[in-house]
Amino acid sequence: MNSSPKDTAPIDLLGLNRQALEAFFVQLGEKPFRARQVLKWIHGHGTTEFDAMTDLSKTLRAQLRERCKLVLPEVARSQASRDGTVKWLMALEDGNRIETVFIPEEKRGTLCVSSQVGCALNCAFCATARQGFSRNLKASEIIGQLWHAYRALGEGRITNVVLMGMGEPLLNFDAVVDAMDLMMDDLAYGLAKRRVTVSTAGLAPAIDRLAEASAASLAISLHATTDELRDELVPINRKYPLAELLAACQRFIQSDKQRGRKITWEYVMLDGVNDSAADARRLVKRLSRIPSKINLIPFNRFAGTPYRRSTPQAIERFQAILVEAGFLTTVRRTRGEDIDAACGQLVGKVQAKSRPRPRHSVQALPVEAVK
Ligand code: SAH
Repeated sequence: MNSSPKDTAPIDLLGLNRQALEAFFVQLGEKPFRARQVLKWIHGHGTTEFDAMTDLSKTLRAQLRERCKLVLPEVARSQASRDGTVKWLMALEDGNRIETVFIPEEKRGTLCVSSQVGCALNCAFCATARQGFSRNLKASEIIGQLWHAYRALGEGRITNVVLMGMGEPLLNFDAVVDAMDLMMDDLAYGLAKRRVTVSTAGLAPAIDRLAEASAASLAISLHATTDELRDELVPINRKYPLAELLAACQRFIQSDKQRGRKITWEYVMLDGVNDSAADARRLVKRLSRIPSKINLIPFNRFAGTPYRRSTPQAIERFQAILVEAGFLTTVRRTRGEDIDAACGQLVGKVQAKSRPRPRHSVQALPVEAVK
């Protein structure tokens, strides 16, 4: 039988979840439990050399050397903020660069992971949008960010992972689900389901798929309570308007894997745009039938943005209305601002294939000027 080049191209084992690894070993004529051993080596011990996997036979190690590879993103730069936040710039094989952020808090440590190089959704208040979009990350490039952070920080530091870095995770569905499988696999990173959160700007149909495919938690970047404003701030709303999005969220939180859990709503606080008492009351109404917690995010500025952060008084008033209505509501503390690691500030280095259309209210800026 002739083998095509496709058959002989080395397989990257880094991004394979347990199921895919088991299938791989079975196809090699090995027992499925080899997958468990290899998962432990790669993710648990951080081993990248097949020869070091000493509980595999020499023959199997030789086979892996020949047919497989382990390609990790390279850390091009790491920066530490005064407040303990760490940001890594990771270089990918094709020259693109993405950013990953670690945010230590008193009782937990959260790693914020990117899912795409750039982003195509063009949200009005986000720096990543200005970069344009290059491509989806592979599962190996998503889990590779955690692999590095885990090694750099040491065991026990990362208690939570959020897919809130560059990109729209649900537009890279399969790779994101595979990577989250590894995050939650006891033999890899062993994070609890509640502690892995995927955040979306609101791709309603993908939310239904997610309910089937993963037990991870869901966060929605809501930011507005009327379609008119949301169309402007989060343009994907024109495709999936609020009623459709909220219906998908309701189905999601009632699905088998999510029983008893809550959806997190992210709401960026923009001065004079979405921060009035009337906005807060509309939000209460919109979310009244969905088990929810709300995270208010004071807007983080970047060069060229026309928006300003809401005043502390406006944020306090907004929060008070939500709390009064019974919603668990937190205000996200801005972290890592001195190293441009705060929400919406991640830019990496994107070899963009598509550029966002300039908005009427915003001057188009050269990429260099954004940072
Ligand atoms: N595309 C996904 C994942 C990105 S998460 C999503 O939209 O959910 C990044 C979070 O930071 C989102 O809630 C986003 O709306 C928010 N954000 C973006 N720009 C921001 C800014 N300049 N200040 C504060 N939050 C911002």
